[in-house]
Amino acid sequence: MVNTPICNFCAKTGVLCKKCKQKLRKKKINQLDIEISKAFAKIELRYAKQLQNVTFERAHKMNGSVVLLTRNGNVLLENQEILDYLESELRQPIEIVERKGDTRTTFSQFFAPLDIIEIDQIFVPPEGDVELRITLSGNPDDLRFPLKQLEQIAKLISKNPVRIEIQ
Ligand SMILES: [Zn+2]
Repeated sequence: MVNTPICNFCAKTGVLCKKCKQKLRKKKINQLDIEISKAFAKIELRYAKQLQNVTFERAHKMNGSVVLLTRNGNVLLENQEILDYLESELRQPIEIVERKGDTRTTFSQFFAPLDIIEIDQIFVPPEGDVELRITLSGNPDDLRFPLKQLEQIAKLISKNPVRIEIQ
């Protein structure tokens, strides 16, 4: 069964329970995440076996495509039928950002071929929220996404606001 940011029951019925509604209200998830969770609930009726270990965490809309943050999501790219189905449901091409291991490991794959020089935690007043400042070295042209998009996807990965600097 695909793990989604809303519970399975909500993904199947499309009606949100109290807990999922609260996640939405607190902006832990958004409407796009719900839409994609529902698409997964539909497609796993046909591809239960292929999708059994997939976790879908969050989605991010870019110009003309949707980025899915997943665990074991590469199976989506390997199976054309699943990919076609999802893309037709979302009416947009899909890009996969795979979470592997901890946040640091995920970042180093996400930013490759650029290297991470350091990740600083900055405490932002007044609430002391943590913002990450990630310093990369290398050629920014080699990055997978434009810088602004990269910061937004990095925010989904770390759950903190992210500022990226390139040396
Ligand atoms: Zn729910």
